[in-house]
Amino acid sequence: MAVIGVGLIGGSLALALRRRGLVGEIVGVGRSAENLAVARRRRIVDRITTDPAEGVRDADLVVLATPVGALAEVGKAIAPALGPGAVVTDVGSTKGSVLRDLEPVIPPHAFFVAAHPIAGTEDSGAAAAEEDLFEGSRCILTPAAGTDPKALARVRRMWRAVGARVIEMDAEVHDRILGAVSHLPHVVAYALVNAVTDLRKDALDYAGGGFRDFTRIAASHPVMWRDIVLANRESVLAGIDATLAELSRMRAWIDRREGRALEEAFLRARITRRSLAPRKGGVRRGGARRKR
Ligand code: NAP
Repeated sequence: MAVIGVGLIGGSLALALRRRGLVGEIVGVGRSAENLAVARRRRIVDRITTDPAEGVRDADLVVLATPVGALAEVGKAIAPALGPGAVVTDVGSTKGSVLRDLEPVIPPHAFFVAAHPIAGTEDSGAAAAEEDLFEGSRCILTPAAGTDPKALARVRRMWRAVGARVIEMDAEVHDRILGAVSHLPHVVAYALVNAVTDLRKDALDYAGGGFRDFTRIAASHPVMWRDIVLANRESVLAGIDATLAELSRMRAWIDRREGRALEEAFLRARITRRSLAPRKGGVRRGGARRKR
């Protein structure tokens, strides 16, 4: 198995598969020597390289786990080195862009299956990898018309083996749903932290549980989230417009002291929020919960 991008997700998948004895040698591919050294020290991978083509040579399974903006380039770099029957899969948080970037470059003797595990924390890098990250989580596969059924079945088995419930979905539907429930909240959290800091520099000294809960995800990796929102631009823009419209309504009610309208809007949100099923997996270290 080759893992390109041995970070939180790629590293956790490698650890989970190794613990279950489902892989032989694991090759880790990355850019920074520091992160690869951590991956080897933690026995996440057996061998490391900074050359993607060298990393995938002889691999039966190739997991692409870099930020989504790097996948087109990574795909082109590995394509000539993929062996016959190799299954390439990804873990990217957007699926339309991934299919567009990767399907055309994977050679006909290899197979591509697009996947998105809905698990993670705001931490990143090989140091953050955890072998039980996917236990009780969901993983969305977004097969396209040309996806090979046997390769799809292999990737499905892999995710089930590490404890995920596997769902299949159209890539466009995936991007609209995740754009709303995951990508938009990250933009809003980043914006809120910046807005509050700009409003009053000393405000954060008094930040309590509400601010911390609301903005935990603003501690996530900026490059990863830059890539996600640009790759799912249409859905994220639609979400920002809807949020701005709701904020404008609330702003007007506050301005005009329309308590009843405000209370109704707050109540509607409260009922919806309270109806959310509690998360499996509970509170994780540092107060972080499984997300995405
Ligand atoms: P991460 O911990 O930052 O890991 C990404 C790894 O990719 C880093 O170790 C980085 O290593 C490497 N990398 C970056 N650019 C590269 C390139 N051009 N070539 C080779 N390696 C490269 O991020 P992550 O959270 O695991 O996310 C990885 C993917 O999973 C992303 O596509 C993300 O959308 C998706 N995802 C994330 C979550 C989550 O909650 N975090 C959940 C589901 C899916 P270097 O130090 O060597 O650059």
